[in-house]
Amino acid sequence: KSKAQGKNKCCLFDDSMREEVMKRACMEGYLREALQQNELSVFFQPQFDIGTGALRGMEALLRWHSKQLGNVPPSQFIPLAEENRLIHQYGKWMLRHACQKNKEWQNKGLPRIPVSVNISPRELEQDCFVEQVITILQETGLEACYLELEITESLMINGDIKAIDKLEALKKIGVGIVQDDFGTGYSSLSYLNSLPIQILKIDKSFIANLQRKESDISLVKAIISLAHNLGLRVVAEGVENTEQVNILKECRCDFTQGFLYSPPVDARTAEEFLKNKE
Ligand code: C2E
Ligand code: MG
Ligand code: MG
Ligand code: MG
Repeated sequence: KSKAQGKNKCCLFDDSMREEVMKRACMEGYLREALQQNELSVFFQPQFDIGTGALRGMEALLRWHSKQLGNVPPSQFIPLAEENRLIHQYGKWMLRHACQKNKEWQNKGLPRIPVSVNISPRELEQDCFVEQVITILQETGLEACYLELEITESLMINGDIKAIDKLEALKKIGVGIVQDDFGTGYSSLSYLNSLPIQILKIDKSFIANLQRKESDISLVKAIISLAHNLGLRVVAEGVENTEQVNILKECRCDFTQGFLYSPPVDARTAEEFLKNKE
């Protein structure tokens, strides 16, 4: 078959630029089949209350283990999926699985916590996005307040009014809206006021040097105090050591997430965090 031939061909080129192009084309081909091939899975990374240490929620993160390419990081395949619109299908799959798993945990009598799902701006563009979320909540039986959607700042750059309306509608039915990667790229503080968000996640690039960069401490302190004044709660992402935690406590940060506590883990391992909660 021509498809199979195409795959084999990819490996024969060794001119490096051509190889790069072919690698991308290969990856795209494999990505198209990833869902069918059962190569996608959902991992979870716990978030904790910085004061009490209690589990407060989990972020769902998409994982792709390709039979041909091995583990491919989201930073490589998400942009590719966004380009060729596969993101619609995969985003929907992700949302459904995250909600399903959360409901399953609740049915087992485990503590109820929100699970947050990353949403690509491409997904929010769809006219049917709100209905899609509502349908998934109904089909899985998960209450809206146990779902959070993480959006990025690229959404705000476009000033997409329709997207803002959709987020408002979702907030109204009880879905939590989280501003992800705050502080990266082009950011305007006024957007914080115009978007219906309840939680702000400070980008991990500000956390990375917290213990040795005085200016980053000032920045993080300012972001947190601004967020609190707007009635938002703050998650620090990418927390890797206790020095960072101590500084974040001083800055009055609310929640933490990072390798210090746990990397993203499979659903079975994530369940252990729920069992150990209180
Ligand atoms: P994100 O939403 O900002 O997710 C946090 C990323 O930081 C994750 O990378 C996580 O593994 C990583 N991380 C967590 N703790 C630490 C830490 O202590 N140190 C460091 N250096 N990194 C940490 P991951 O899983 O590779 O995902 C990368 C990005 O891909 C995500 O960034 C998100 O924007 C996107 N992504 C992942 N899953 C999905 C998805 O289902 N849908 C969409 N649209 N995007 C997704
Ligand atoms: Mg995120
Ligand atoms: Mg993100
Ligand atoms: Mg982030």
